[in-house]
Amino acid sequence: MDSKTLGLYIHVPFCRSKCAYCDFYSLSGADALMSPYTDALCTQLEAFAGDAAGYVVDTVYVGGGTPSCIGAGRLSRILGAVRRGYRVAPDAEITVEANPDSVGDWFAELRAAGYNRVSLGMQSADNAILRDIGRIHTVEQVADAVSTLRRAGFENLSLDLIYGLPGQSASSWRDSVEYAVGLSPEHLSCYGLKLEPGTPLYRRRNALPLPDDDAQADMYLWAADALPAYGYRQYEISNFARPGRASRHNLKYWTLGEYLGFGTGAHSDFGGVRFAWARDLSAFVDRKWAYSEYTRITARERSREWLMLRLRTVYGVDLREYRDTFGRDFDADFLSQCIGAGYAVRNGERVSLTPRGFLVSNQIIGRALELSE
Ligand code: SF4
Repeated sequence: MDSKTLGLYIHVPFCRSKCAYCDFYSLSGADALMSPYTDALCTQLEAFAGDAAGYVVDTVYVGGGTPSCIGAGRLSRILGAVRRGYRVAPDAEITVEANPDSVGDWFAELRAAGYNRVSLGMQSADNAILRDIGRIHTVEQVADAVSTLRRAGFENLSLDLIYGLPGQSASSWRDSVEYAVGLSPEHLSCYGLKLEPGTPLYRRRNALPLPDDDAQADMYLWAADALPAYGYRQYEISNFARPGRASRHNLKYWTLGEYLGFGTGAHSDFGGVRFAWARDLSAFVDRKWAYSEYTRITARERSREWLMLRLRTVYGVDLREYRDTFGRDFDADFLSQCIGAGYAVRNGERVSLTPRGFLVSNQIIGRALELSE
C-alpha cells in the first residue's frame, strides 16, 4: 500500500486590478482569456495525472492572482479536473484564494464542489491605506465577505494582513489585527511589506510615509506577542492559526513535501526535481508549456533547503535528524550565540527561532548554512 502524499498548486493569473505593491504574476483586463486559460489548466492537469498515479493528493491550493474573480463555474471545473485525474484524500484541504470584492453567495457552489478553505486578502482595516495601496475593497467588504463565506458553509477561513504599509502607525496596525481577530478566522497571515522593484509602490518609495525598520519590527513583535492571547498560535514566520488549523498546504512547502504546480508561473518540487512553468499567459493558453526552471536537486541543496525551511517554522530543526539525514552539524558556538541573544531556543535536540529571531532569520539562516558547509 502506498502512502505518498502530494500537494497541488494551481495558479490563476487574473485580477480585477493590480495592487500597487504586487509583483505576483497576474494580469488585469484579460477576462477574455479566463475560459481558454481554464481549459488549458484542465488539459495540463490531465497531462500530468499519470505522473501522480502513486500519490494521494491531500492538499489542493488554488492561488493567484485572484481565483475568486474567475467565478464558480470555472473554479468548479478546475476541481473537477483534479478529481478526475488524481486520487484526492477524503479529508483533503482544498483552498481557494479570494478578494473581498469578489466574494458572493455563489461561494456556496464552491463549497458544494469540494472547496473547504478560503484565504481572503484583507491587508488592513484602514480604508485610506487600502485605497493608497490600490486595493479595490473596503474593510466593511471584508466583514461582509467573512459573513457570506460562513453562510456558504466555510468553516476554515484565513485572512491576510500586511504591516509596514505607507502611513501605517503602530495603532493603525493594532486596529487591523484586532479587527481581523474580531472576525474570528481560523488562520491569520501577517506579512511585512516588501517594496518589489518594478511595482508602482517601489517607484514612489522616496515620497512615501513608510514606517522605518524599527517601527516595522515592533509591529511584527506586537502581533507575535498579542495573537496567542486571542487563540492564534504562531507556527511559521508569518503565520498564526487556531489549534489544528495551520495551513497543511503551506506546511508541505516548509517541510519539503512534494507538490506539483499547474498554470503559468507555477512551481513544483516533485520526484527530486524543482521546476516552474514560464510566466506567459498567451503561450500557456496555446498549450506551449515551457519551463522557466528545471533543476534536479542535489543532496547538498536539499540539506540547505531543509535547514532554511525548517527554521522558518516554530517546530525548528532537530539537530540529530539534521546530522543523521545530511551528515552535517549546526555550529555549536553559533547556536549558543543565537540562544544568548534571544534569537533561538533549544529544547533537547530541537532548535527553533523566537519571534525576534524570525525578524533576522535571513541573516541567521545564511550564517548557519555557511558554518555547516
Ligand atoms: S489582488 Fe493579489 S495578486 Fe492581484 S494584484 Fe492585488 S496583491 Fe496582486
